[in-house]
Amino acid sequence: MAFDYDLFVIGAGSGGVRAARLASKAGARVAIAEQVQVGGTCVLRGCVPKKLLIYGAEFSQTFRDAKGFGWTVDWARFDWPTLRDHVQAEVNRLSGLYMNNLAAAHVEVIEDRAIVVDPHRLRLTATGREVTAERILVAVGGHTSRPHDTPGQELGITSTDCFTLDALPASIVIAGGGYIALEFANIFSGLGVETTIVYRGERILRGFDHDIRKHVQADMQRTGVHIMCGSTIAEIAPLGENRKLVTLSNSMRLETDHVLWAIGREPNTKGMGLEAAGVRLTQRGAVAVDEYSRSNVASIWAIGDVTDRINLTPVAIREAVAFVETEFMGRPTAFDHADVASAVFSRPAVGAVGLTEEEARAKSKIRVFRTVFRPMKNILAGNEQRTLMKLIVNAESDRVVGVHIAGPEAPELIQLAAIAVKAGLTKAQWDATCAVHPTAAEELVLMGEPIAHDPEAPA
Ligand code: FAD
Repeated sequence: MAFDYDLFVIGAGSGGVRAARLASKAGARVAIAEQVQVGGTCVLRGCVPKKLLIYGAEFSQTFRDAKGFGWTVDWARFDWPTLRDHVQAEVNRLSGLYMNNLAAAHVEVIEDRAIVVDPHRLRLTATGREVTAERILVAVGGHTSRPHDTPGQELGITSTDCFTLDALPASIVIAGGGYIALEFANIFSGLGVETTIVYRGERILRGFDHDIRKHVQADMQRTGVHIMCGSTIAEIAPLGENRKLVTLSNSMRLETDHVLWAIGREPNTKGMGLEAAGVRLTQRGAVAVDEYSRSNVASIWAIGDVTDRINLTPVAIREAVAFVETEFMGRPTAFDHADVASAVFSRPAVGAVGLTEEEARAKSKIRVFRTVFRPMKNILAGNEQRTLMKLIVNAESDRVVGVHIAGPEAPELIQLAAIAVKAGLTKAQWDATCAVHPTAAEELVLMGEPIAHDPEAPA
């Protein structure tokens, strides 16, 4: 059977764009459909705009720190529309670059929603046109979850709405304790908004090392972010023109300008026609795939957030590359999801790679190295923020199997530490590496003695 395309990619986000470009360069006839704007979550409503807002928010601390270094900064004023509009201009510029790159790679861009009709057929929903493809790559990402049973949930906003707010609120309640909740808490509190996190768990950042969770939570509270654990939002009711009355599960009431839902994300598989085409979904509605990102239907693959493996941009990109190598370059390649580093742009920021103390302890005997210190800059600045660094070492092999950092530049540091962890270097090899002085990073190669029994460590 002759197909219209060798590859049809649904979704022009991080994974889809990379796969489309590489497959086209490898000689395939490729089309990509995008229902909103080329660039996807990362470029338009995720990593990029969020990081730019964080840069904007961090100036408030920089201005406070500057005093100890002799500066008088009494003219600082913040204008939300300026930051918001500059960020939007930048993400639109990046989206344009993505479009140019797709055109340069001779990928046909179709600005429409595409759904699957059968294993080789798709429908473009605006025009009703049907097209055929030898292979279909589902790269449609995910969307913010909302608690549909919570009365008044529709009065809450999502992370996407935060980027285009008309005005900066005076107060915000953020539901959730994951990285997106913390990053928006950093943005809003840094910009002077009274910020409250409401989280159902006992401590924020579930899945991260217990020391990091404790350290970050305590430091956020020290800087004025209210964190209410062990509760959820039971109801949101309108209060006057623009305010909301939030009732928590513990009956406590909060008045606020905005409520931000940051309680997780769900794969975009609803209404995609996947099940009708025979594609198996997981319980969470993600496309179930094998290590080569192939679904149970031989002509349909899925990469990125829609597969709900590790929902990060570089992972979606590596899955895309592995898919193209496997299917268009004759080199079967499975992306290795082990030891993927991650960052949280909270205040303090977090970088983590490998096993947490609790995960490592469950697998083997370990040695734990930990240091907590006040970075040099903070002493003169009169800033009480401390850095925490932690190495988890397999006691038998001496390999460093986990690195966890909370403090300034942690996301930058963890990228380099991830090389050593991925390479399987031993603690002795870390120690043989000469320090760079004076830096915070030098502590990573100067942790001499493992900590003795820590009564607070998980069993
Ligand atoms: P996406 O980038 O979401 O792209 C999917 C595309 O498919 C979208 O453009 C969508 O419009 C389109 N689409 C959906 N359905 C259809 C259809 N039927 N037809 C046509 N088009 C369709 N990751 C990091 O690595 N670092 C970070 O710091 C980070 N920060 C984040 C902050 C926020 C607030 C959010 C929400 C996410 C963040 N992420 C971060 C996650 C990252 O954005 C995602 O992991 C990444 O974008 C996933 O890429 P993807 O290709 O799977 O999907």
